[in-house]
Amino acid sequence: MSAHHQPPTGDGIALVVDDVTVRFKGVVALSQVSFKAREGDIHAIIGPNGAGKSTMFNVISGVYHPSEGDVKYRGISVPSRRPDEIASLGVGRTFQNIALFATLSVEENLMLGRHHLTKATFATSALGLPSVRKEAKLHRARAREIAHFLQLDKVIDIPAGVLSYGVQKRVEIARALCTEPSLLLLDEPVAGMNAEETRRMADTILDIKAALPITILLVEHDMGLVMSIADNVTVLDFGKRIANGTPAQVQNDPAVIEAYLGSHGKEVLSHSSAQDGGQP
Ligand code: ADP
Ligand code: MG
Repeated sequence: MSAHHQPPTGDGIALVVDDVTVRFKGVVALSQVSFKAREGDIHAIIGPNGAGKSTMFNVISGVYHPSEGDVKYRGISVPSRRPDEIASLGVGRTFQNIALFATLSVEENLMLGRHHLTKATFATSALGLPSVRKEAKLHRARAREIAHFLQLDKVIDIPAGVLSYGVQKRVEIARALCTEPSLLLLDEPVAGMNAEETRRMADTILDIKAALPITILLVEHDMGLVMSIADNVTVLDFGKRIANGTPAQVQNDPAVIEAYLGSHGKEVLSHSSAQDGGQP
């Protein structure tokens, strides 16, 4: 039932991104970026559109291979591994664009998230062994527990595709949590949400942090959200790291203010209610 994920290293550091460069033909999406995320932190990665945030997530989850540099999750080097192997280390993620199975119910989508934790093989499943049925029942119970945590009880039997955008975002997070990750990557969890939905999502992310032994990496445009819930922030601009520190530190960093709309930067970065995010 439980995942056999990579244990913590003991130094309090979950993730080490070391001098990572990613090139696509002519484009340098990331240029010698380094940062560390501490165990249990909400670590935000922010920056204007095209800064390289999603690319960084794709490197950490093994979708892209860095041209140079290394990423270590709990001491294990990630770039040589396949995405499913990285998931098995305990790295779960959501995507900037929703990636649910539209015709499957919420519960079925969540059960897919548990697939790699299942011990049953194709052969033992076909035999319908009691142990297999028991295992499936336990997984279903856990999926429902996670759905409840994300306030999805009422939509559990509904096809994911018919749900509102905001609810689908919650289903995506629930599905990622169903892999029992120790590192959760959230790519723009409040993009396209109104102020009320954004507030609820902020509470949910804080609830996840409080309830689980988990490190959360948060890519987000919404400055209000980042500044109110992140423990640490790495700022990217044109593929380069331009700042790293606490929300208060990066908020007052001249390079960051400049990157966010020049003279309006300060206003955007101190915005607390988070409706218009950091988009120019
Ligand atoms: P962000 O998420 O910060 O908005 P991205 O990481 O998506 O930025 O993109 C960073 C840069 O890398 C952009 O210039 C983008 O066009 C480019 N890029 C990202 N993925 C690819 C790809 N698969 N092929 C070519 N260029 C890409
Ligand atoms: Mg992106």
